[in-house]
Amino acid sequence: MEKVTQSNTEVAQNYVSQVFETVKKRNMNESEFHQAVKEVFDSLIPVFAKNPHYMKQGILERIVEPERIITFRIPWVDDLGNVKVNRGFRVQYNSALGPYKGGLRFHPSVNTSIIKFLGFEQIFKNALTGQPIGGGKGGADFDPKGKSDGEIMRFTQSFMMELSKHIGPDLDVPAGDIGVGAKEIGFMFGQYKRMRSGYEAGVLTGKGVGYGGSLARKEATGYGTVYFVEEMLKDHNLSFNGSTVTISGSGNVSIYAIEKAQQLGAKVVACSDSSGYIYDKNGIDLSTVKRLKEVENKRISEYVNEHSDAHYFEDCSGIWSIPCDIALPCATQNELDEIAAKVLVSNGVKAVGEGANMPSTLEAINIFQHNQVLFAPAKAANAGGVSVSALEMAQNSARLSWSFEDVDAKLQEIMKDIYQESIKASEDFDAAGNLVIGANIAGFVKVADAMIMQGVI
Ligand code: NDP
Repeated sequence: MEKVTQSNTEVAQNYVSQVFETVKKRNMNESEFHQAVKEVFDSLIPVFAKNPHYMKQGILERIVEPERIITFRIPWVDDLGNVKVNRGFRVQYNSALGPYKGGLRFHPSVNTSIIKFLGFEQIFKNALTGQPIGGGKGGADFDPKGKSDGEIMRFTQSFMMELSKHIGPDLDVPAGDIGVGAKEIGFMFGQYKRMRSGYEAGVLTGKGVGYGGSLARKEATGYGTVYFVEEMLKDHNLSFNGSTVTISGSGNVSIYAIEKAQQLGAKVVACSDSSGYIYDKNGIDLSTVKRLKEVENKRISEYVNEHSDAHYFEDCSGIWSIPCDIALPCATQNELDEIAAKVLVSNGVKAVGEGANMPSTLEAINIFQHNQVLFAPAKAANAGGVSVSALEMAQNSARLSWSFEDVDAKLQEIMKDIYQESIKASEDFDAAGNLVIGANIAGFVKVADAMIMQGVI
C-alpha cells in the first residue's frame, strides 16, 4: 500500500470520474444503473489512492462491464387464448468468485437499467457474504398481478425454455426477487428438469422445502436485515427492544423483517404495498398480514377491515411520515427520497436499514449521514437472502438438509461477519462507521483481487 498524498487522491478522483463518464456514455438512459455505479465508485477513491495498481489493471472499467447480457423473447398464451409477448433478461455480471448468483424479478418496470443496477450491486453483496458466488440478476417485464396460476405457469415455462440454455449449478444459479416466490421457482425448476432429463437440484435456489429448498431461505432476507441492524444498534447502545419501527412493503422481505423485529421486542406500527400503507398504533398483527399477502393475495388495505384501530392511507410513500425510531425500507428501489428522509430525521429516526435493493436515493442517504442517523446499506444489510441461497447450494451438493436452527445460526454469524468486515474497512480507509463506504470497499477488494489473480479476462 502506498502512502496517501493529495496528488494520489487527485489521480484516483480523476480516474473514477473518467470511468464514470464513459459508463454514462456507453449506457445512456439507464438512470438506476448510473445511480448504483456512482454510489460504489465514489466510495472507492481512497482505495485507488492507496493502491494505484488497481488503476493500471483497469479494474473499474472491467468490473462495471457485465461479462454477458442475455435478452430474449418470451411468448405465452393467456387464459383467453391470446398470445402475449414479454421480454426476458439475464445479466451474468461477474464470475471471479464463483458461479453467477442473483434473483429473477417479474415486474412491469423491469428493463436493462434495473437488471444491470441489481446485477452490479449483487457482485459486491455476494463477495461480502464470504461465500463462493459471483454476481448476476435477471427477470422479465411480466406483471404477475391478476394472472391465474395457469398463466403464471405457462409464462414461467416459456421463460425457462430460453433461460435454461444459459444456467446450471456450476454456471449460473438464479433465485427469486420481486414477483418471483416459491410458486414461480417451482414451475421453473419443473420445466428445467423436464428439459435436462436430470435432477440438478442446485440450478435454482428458493425451492420448496420438500424438493431441495433450504429451511429458513424464505425468512432469510428479512431476518438477516434485522440481524444486521441489531448489530449496528448494539454498537451504539441501542436495540430493537422497545423501539417503534416502520417497515415498507408487505412481501417476502417485509413480512420476515416484521417477524424478527417483533421477536426482538420492537413495535412495528406500519407496512405497505404499492397502493398505500396501514398504520396500527397497537403494533401490526402479522398473522393478518401473512394471510392477506401469502395466502389470499389481497391488498394491504383489507387489514383495516379486521383491525378497527388501524388506518389505511393511499400513497405508499406517506409511510415515512410516521414517527419511528427505526425505518426499514423493504419494498423497492428509490422508495425513500430526500423529502422522506428529512421528515424521518425531523421525527427523530435513529436508524435506517435497507431490506430492499437501493430503496434510498443518494440524496436521502446524504441526509441520514449528515444528521448522524445510523445507516445500513442494502448491499450489506439484505445479504442474508443470497447467503442462505448459497447454503441451499451447499446442501444440494452434499445431498443433505440442515435444520432451521442450523441455517438460522449460520445466517446470524454471516450477518455479524458482514457488519464487522464493513466497519473494519470503513476504519481502514478513514471513514470510521460509514457502512456505505465500508461495505463497498470490503466487497470490491475481494472481487478485484480475484480478478487480478485470474489475469486479463
Ligand atoms: P415481493 O414481490 O415479495 O414484495 C414486494 C413488496 O413491495 C410488495 O408488497 C409490493 O406491493 C411492495 N411494493 C412495490 N412497490 C412499492 C412501492 N413503491 N411502495 C411500497 N410498496 C411497494 O418482493 P421481495 O420482498 O422479495 O423484494 C423486496 C425488495 O427486496 C426488492 O428490492 C428486492 O430486490 C429486495 N431483495 C429481495 C430478496 C429476496 O430474497 N426476496 C433478497 C435481497 C433483496 P404490491 O404487491 O402492491 O406490488
